[in-house]
Amino acid sequence: MKYVSTRGQTPALGFSDAVATGLAPDGGLFLPESLPDFSAKLAGFEQLGYAELCYEFLRVFATDIPADTLRALIAQSYTQFADPAIAPLKPLAKNLYVLELFHGPTLAFKDFALQLLGNLYAHQCRVRRETINVLGATSGDTGAAAIHGLLGKPGTAIFILYPDGRVSPLQERQMTCTGAPNVFALAIEGTFDDAQTALKEVFADQEFRRRQRLSAVNSINLARILAQCVYYLYAWLKLPASERGNVEFVVPTGNFGNVLAGWLLQKMGVPIRGFQVATNQNDILHRLFTTGEYRVGAVQPSLAPSMDIQVASNFERFIYFAAGRDPAKVRAVMATFKQTGAYRFEGFDPDIFSATRTTDEEIASIIARVYRDFGYITDPHTACGFKALRSDRVNVVLATASPAKFPETIKQVIGLEPTDPSLEMLKTKPIVKHRLSATPEAIRAFIDARAVS
Ligand SMILES: *Cc1c(COP(=O)(O)O)cnc(C)c1O
Repeated sequence: MKYVSTRGQTPALGFSDAVATGLAPDGGLFLPESLPDFSAKLAGFEQLGYAELCYEFLRVFATDIPADTLRALIAQSYTQFADPAIAPLKPLAKNLYVLELFHGPTLAFKDFALQLLGNLYAHQCRVRRETINVLGATSGDTGAAAIHGLLGKPGTAIFILYPDGRVSPLQERQMTCTGAPNVFALAIEGTFDDAQTALKEVFADQEFRRRQRLSAVNSINLARILAQCVYYLYAWLKLPASERGNVEFVVPTGNFGNVLAGWLLQKMGVPIRGFQVATNQNDILHRLFTTGEYRVGAVQPSLAPSMDIQVASNFERFIYFAAGRDPAKVRAVMATFKQTGAYRFEGFDPDIFSATRTTDEEIASIIARVYRDFGYITDPHTACGFKALRSDRVNVVLATASPAKFPETIKQVIGLEPTDPSLEMLKTKPIVKHRLSATPEAIRAFIDARAVS
């Protein structure tokens, strides 16, 4: 299987190269050249455990990795999940389930993709006898999940920039208490935007980038999207057969990566009824799906910080399909969007996509209501998924983070403080962080001193 860029000006690559490249050189995102059809295989998948199902799915895509190797990499990626089901589907009421995606090492759904991506990177280093230095900026969850994906992996080092004092204390501990010699948590003076700006400048330095074999970690990597298709498929197979065709996945959404994975799976022959795009007060996607206009706004920090985004970077993959897979059209749309900060889309199918927007006040009241009605504690991101369920469909709300990651918010609302053993253990370990100014010079000097070569 080959992978093409949404902008059509990069030669098609194999799976491993597309994963290693991340963002295509023409500025586009990689997608499979054609989508496989799984409809005839679904019955045969019913009895598979999570890792086996993941293998059966990914082997269709990762055709350049030997079967036994791929199977082992996948098996290893799901060994650090605390729940034996990996992604347990829990019934709350008639026509209502939660799919818990927070049993990985950092207690948020990003572990599903980043545990695998870490193993794919390490594998590539082994077979190509290369090293890689991964650099990223985070406002919390992504950095922690990326670090735990690469923790202690030979041939790799990971450098994560985060705004000092502006991530939650538990998120900081997940990044700084690992004790791993290949992990560097860089506490930057300034905001997340300052960290991001410095990061972009470091990546723009081509000579430095090549010399240090620098690779990015961000939400647009092809492997992340494909790994995320698997839990939709797993949940679909766990539903009673009579409910499967009417399932509505409700997805707390930021960069659109998570919803996109589900939607691609639907296009691959899995009969899913629809998707609800659940945003917080940063509602660019809610406005898009309700008015047809995609227009950037300013980010307003919320109780669900991992959904605080300005532009949904994975949306370009959706545009590619909406444009009839015509890269010239994608380029035109992206150019208009870049120039004007807005674009009008026509013809969303309201039967497939709906959207909601949840303010901070509503997040608090939803956490209280869900606890009262179902005895279930949701984190602030997952709470956005409970705003408006559909009575005519079988709702599966994706629980994207553990409530134990947000003890202050939960305690304020319901008076209980959720905990998790992994977080309690972190509190006993020393914090190791490196304070840096948010300049490309300081970051380059730090990497030069600590990179693997
Ligand atoms: C990243 C994240 C999201 C948003 O996911 P996208 O793929 O960006 O839509 C939602 N909830 C949590 C807890 C996250 O960490």
